[in-house]
Amino acid sequence: MIEADRVVSTGAQAEDLALEPTVRPQRLQDYIGQSRVKEQMSIWLPAAKKRGRALDHVLLFGPPGLGKTTLATIVANELGVNITTVAAPAIEKQGDIAALVSKQEKNSVLFIDEIHRLNNKLAEMLYSAMEDFKLDIVIGEGPAAQSVSIPLQPFTLIGATTKAGGLASPLRARFGIVAHLEFYDDLSLQQIVMRSAGCLGIAIDAGGAMEIACRSRGTPRIANRLLRRVRDYAEIRADGRITKEVANSALNILEVDPKGLDLMDKKLILSMIDMFNGGPVGLESIAAAISEDPETIEDMIEPYLIQQGYIQRTRTGRIATEKAYRHFGRTFVSRDIAAKDSQLSLNL
Ligand code: ADP
Repeated sequence: MIEADRVVSTGAQAEDLALEPTVRPQRLQDYIGQSRVKEQMSIWLPAAKKRGRALDHVLLFGPPGLGKTTLATIVANELGVNITTVAAPAIEKQGDIAALVSKQEKNSVLFIDEIHRLNNKLAEMLYSAMEDFKLDIVIGEGPAAQSVSIPLQPFTLIGATTKAGGLASPLRARFGIVAHLEFYDDLSLQQIVMRSAGCLGIAIDAGGAMEIACRSRGTPRIANRLLRRVRDYAEIRADGRITKEVANSALNILEVDPKGLDLMDKKLILSMIDMFNGGPVGLESIAAAISEDPETIEDMIEPYLIQQGYIQRTRTGRIATEKAYRHFGRTFVSRDIAAKDSQLSLNL
């Protein structure tokens, strides 16, 4: 199994993208959870609009699927301006940046997803564009090179990143608003599932929505995907209505356990326990052991397991916690005792 094909993958799959126009909230009042960010936005957005000025540049941090793109769309809708959306890997040359910033209209929003993947040279072009709304470019080469400064319309850059430390500090410093999106609690996810079911015309009760919420790893994208899979099950094996029992049976077939862990999580955690004695184990070693890409483990699989306390990152490597041992029915031996035991056997 590869990460992108998991039913609990945080990355967007083709079907997610197809249904996004139907389920994605368009206004701040429909954006569920994230109360801190929402409250701040509910002040900044009307304030910028009232003054007729561009909103400060916004940097959104958070794992995939938590609502960064959604929030950027909402900002543009609330301000009543256009939004241009681009993923950083698609920006390859200086001309791409120049085209993006020079086509911005007054107070519009430019959303750059995965902004940590923008190469340094291109990121530097954003500095004067963000700070002074001008584009500084060098035309020609060698002694004939000329520096030209082109004025731009004021605009808001919204950058999204999954890596808190992945941004060069001069770029980071140019964002006036920095918002961290958190994993959602079960009640917020239950509300999201109920709302999405309404958008998609799916019959569901509160118990069914909670069952899906609990197994969605704090992530709305996963909640919406599980909802669709459970709907298919409900149509074929039940009367079409999603209840707690129907959701439970469907999710068991999908092999998503009551805590939202799937076979990939199981493989990761059990190899830490069985092959590395629970750790500490380095990212590269664990990646080789389960034949997965280290970056995929770090960005897509691990964040939820760390947040839930199944894995800890320490200076010497990853360790499986007592909670992880218990979850998979293994006997936990305190690391102190294990260390003393191995010392003892060395001395014998
Ligand atoms: P990201 O950009 O962080 O990867 P998205 O903004 O694409 O995540 O969100 C994935 C999906 O989850 C969206 O299509 C939307 O339907 C849903 N979603 C995200 N955040 C919320 C929220 N706060 N309330 C309701 N639905 C949400």
